[in-house]
Amino acid sequence: MSLVNSTSQISLNSSEELPSLSDRITSIRKRISDAAAASNRAESEITLIAVTKFHPADIAREVYEAGVSDLAESRPQEFLLKQQAMADLSDVQWHFVGQLQRNKAKFIRSSNAIIHSVDRSSLIDALARGSEADDVQQIFLQLNLTDDPNRGGVAPDDLLSLADYASSVGQFSIKGVMAVPGLGKPLEEEFAKIHEASERLRSILPDAKSISAGMSGDFETAIRFGATHLRIGTAITGPRDTTR
Ligand SMILES: *Cc1c(COP(=O)(O)O)cnc(C)c1O
Repeated sequence: MSLVNSTSQISLNSSEELPSLSDRITSIRKRISDAAAASNRAESEITLIAVTKFHPADIAREVYEAGVSDLAESRPQEFLLKQQAMADLSDVQWHFVGQLQRNKAKFIRSSNAIIHSVDRSSLIDALARGSEADDVQQIFLQLNLTDDPNRGGVAPDDLLSLADYASSVGQFSIKGVMAVPGLGKPLEEEFAKIHEASERLRSILPDAKSISAGMSGDFETAIRFGATHLRIGTAITGPRDTTR
C-alpha cells in the first residue's frame, strides 16, 4: 500500500468517527433542553436557528431534513441562491443575521425572512420602501456591545430611540433585541447587558420580548440570560470554509 493510500485510509476512518449532522443536532437539542430546565424555562420558548452560511444548499437541506426548519444566512447573495435552491420547502422560516446595506434592503424585505440585524434609521427607511404591500416585516434590533462602530448594531443608549422610530414608521413587528457578545469580554457580563437592554425595550414595547443571542460556543449561558432565539452555526455544520 502506498503512503498516500494509507494516509487517506486514516482520514476516512477518523471522519467515520465524527458524529453525523443529525447526531449533532440531537445533542444540541438535548443541551438546550438541559439548559432551559436548569433555568426553569420552557424549552418551547427557545427557537433553534441553524446558521448555514458558507455551506452549500445541500447542507442546509440536510439540516432541514434533520428537523431544523429555522435557517439563517448572513450574506444577501448567498441567501438568494440558497432560498432558490430550497424553494420547494415551503415551511422553512428564513432568518437574515448579517450586516445589511440599504441597497439590499428591498430584496431582503421581499424574502419573508425575519431580519435580526436592523440597527439604524436609514435601514428602517430602506426596508419600509422595500414593500409596496405594507405587509408586516418581523425584525430584531441589533445591539453593538463594543466600541467599534464597524461591528454593526445600535449603541445600547440609542436602542429606545431606534425602537420608537421603527414603531412610528409602521410595517414592522419588533420581536426584540439581537446581539453578539464582544470578543474576549466576560460572557456573563455581555449577556447581562443584552438582558438589561431587552428589559428597557420591553418597558416601551411590551411585546418585544424575544432575545436573539447565543451561538455555538455560548448558547447555554445565553439561555441562562433569557435568550429565545439561538443562532447556531459550526456546532451543527462543522467549520466554515470562509474562502468560498
Ligand atoms: C455566523 C454567525 C452565527 C453562528 O456562529 P457559530 O459560532 O458558528 O455558531 C451567529 N450569529 C451571527 C450573526 C453570525 O454571523
